[in-house]
Amino acid sequence: MKNAKLRKGITVGVTALLAVVLIALVAADALSQRVGETDKYGVAMGTVITQRLFSKKSAEKESEDITDIINALEDKISWRKEGSDIFTLNRNYIMYCDSDLKAVLDASFDVWDSSGGAFDITVGKLTSLWNIGDEGARVPSEKEIENALDYVDGSKVRISGDGVTVMKGQMIDLGAVGKGLACDKIKAYLENTDISGAVISVGGSVLLYGENTAGEKWKVAVRDPRGDSGDYVGTVMIDEGCVSTSGDYERVLEADGKSYHHIIDPKTGMPADSGLISVTVVSDSGFTSDALSTACFVLGKEEGMKLLEKYNAQGIFIDSEYTVYVSDGLKGDFSLNSEKYTVSE
Ligand code: ADP
Ligand code: MG
Repeated sequence: MKNAKLRKGITVGVTALLAVVLIALVAADALSQRVGETDKYGVAMGTVITQRLFSKKSAEKESEDITDIINALEDKISWRKEGSDIFTLNRNYIMYCDSDLKAVLDASFDVWDSSGGAFDITVGKLTSLWNIGDEGARVPSEKEIENALDYVDGSKVRISGDGVTVMKGQMIDLGAVGKGLACDKIKAYLENTDISGAVISVGGSVLLYGENTAGEKWKVAVRDPRGDSGDYVGTVMIDEGCVSTSGDYERVLEADGKSYHHIIDPKTGMPADSGLISVTVVSDSGFTSDALSTACFVLGKEEGMKLLEKYNAQGIFIDSEYTVYVSDGLKGDFSLNSEKYTVSE
């Protein structure tokens, strides 16, 4: 009897202990739940968007929010979207400007100034004339280019208080920075979520956020500008930040047996011909990486590398001789992967 009581006591005790252990195990399991991935593909800003989000729970809502962020930005800054701020500015030559857009315009004119006008968001009259990558793309006549050049002049834009005015007939085109700006907006959003890491590509601009599952640097492939879409020249390892590429293969018009691309030299009105065929820029800021990739593509290797220094950015330039130039800060992080190319010392 005594023994039976004792046995019962022991049994209850063990059961209680098991329950505690089980609860502890469940709690530990919840805490150590593996970080999973949520992937999403879509089209916005006239380009392909891919999202890879790392988090402990499904990130479906966050990925939808990110799509909304990109679409809202396009609706605000695309010159093609009727009713957008830039559409209105291009029609009225004057516009009320919120602080967000004012900061973008100010930053754009800073790059205009530093690049000696190679990067110029007043290039719209020319880009819309060529319209490369869209319906109705064509090679304009010399006269048309000459006329359009009269309206390409960053010094004619006035930003003051909460207003902006441009010269009558001028057209602003933020196409060179839209994708990088989208990366910046997404980064600001992710900082207020439980997402631990993310790789978001908005066309040629890629945001690398937080940590990947391996807890290592992010590995980004630099596309082969003369290969198929899956081919790459090499890879670069980077911490968090944004990587933007501008290339002469991205949007092209084939006419009269020639190939014309979409990055225009504001001095000539023609597709830029600096000897570079691809420019990749790495920066903490998406705006900066996107603006500088376009600017350096126009400027060419020497001046482009100098411009990167001014913005504390790094870059990988490829010229038409298939030589790859890597800025000093990235030299140890770049690995060549293609025999077609050589890395300059
Ligand atoms: P993508 O938009 O294909 O990623 P870029 O970032 O280099 O490539 O931007 C190219 C776009 O920038 C063009 O389609 C045009 O809208 C605009 N653009 C072209 N030339 C210039 C220039 N010299 N300065 C500023 N914007 C430009
Ligand atoms: Mg750009």
